[in-house]
Amino acid sequence: MKILVAVKRVIDYNVQIRVKSDSTGVETENVKMSMNPPDENAVEEALRIKESGKAEEVIAISIGEEKAQETIRTALAMGADRGIHVKATHDVEPLAVAKILQKIVEKEKPQIVLLGKQAIDDDSNQTGQMLSALLGWAQGTFASKIELEASAAIITREIDEGLEKVKLPFPIVATCDLRLNEPRYASLPNIMKAKKKPIDNYTSDELGIDVSPRVRQLKVTEPPKREKGVMVADVAELVQKLKHEAKVI
Ligand code: AMP
Repeated sequence: MKILVAVKRVIDYNVQIRVKSDSTGVETENVKMSMNPPDENAVEEALRIKESGKAEEVIAISIGEEKAQETIRTALAMGADRGIHVKATHDVEPLAVAKILQKIVEKEKPQIVLLGKQAIDDDSNQTGQMLSALLGWAQGTFASKIELEASAAIITREIDEGLEKVKLPFPIVATCDLRLNEPRYASLPNIMKAKKKPIDNYTSDELGIDVSPRVRQLKVTEPPKREKGVMVADVAELVQKLKHEAKVI
């Protein structure tokens, strides 16, 4: 069994995001970029499945500019066997990413496709769902546990009401939650080994996918600044302020 894992290059979650002065987006020049955090959980899960003997190959795929290869190398250093880079010169929207993944699934024929539950840059939470619809495959989103049986996966999903367990017959698409596992760090020898692992390259044109944007972003602005807090002397003053100044009680 093959597992395909989608890994996106995003601004590192520790970076303080700065909006561009012309409001056309956020600054990415000289900003630390990393693998989207839930995608690390997806890679980790794929590796654990392989290590348990239930899969033979883990393939990491990224769609994006040249530097997306660094994210693929990170997945290879964690232990993925090979990579696929689909080059794009601008941000690709979730529907186009899903269509590209669909094409690669048709070529590679994996039984499991793992994605992150959402990308921390666009917060779309759409790609996995769209991919499963395009493929007509079962989907398990927000997976916090994945157990494999001979012909199905049992996925535990964290939902508002608690934990939901679903049984999905193979082939499946699953999107991974941060609570799924603890991603491993790549060791130095594995980082060195990853440099020699193969990465296949495609363009969206070669795959016949139109990646032109369907959504026009009007403006990106900073959230309003929080007002400075005030110290109150006692509960009576707090209640007085909540009643007469904030007018919330
Ligand atoms: P989103 O629907 O944009 O929130 O992304 C959900 C998941 O889809 C991410 O966690 C990734 O696993 C995958 N994904 C989205 N965009 C890309 C991309 N450009 N390259 C690789 N994987 C992606």
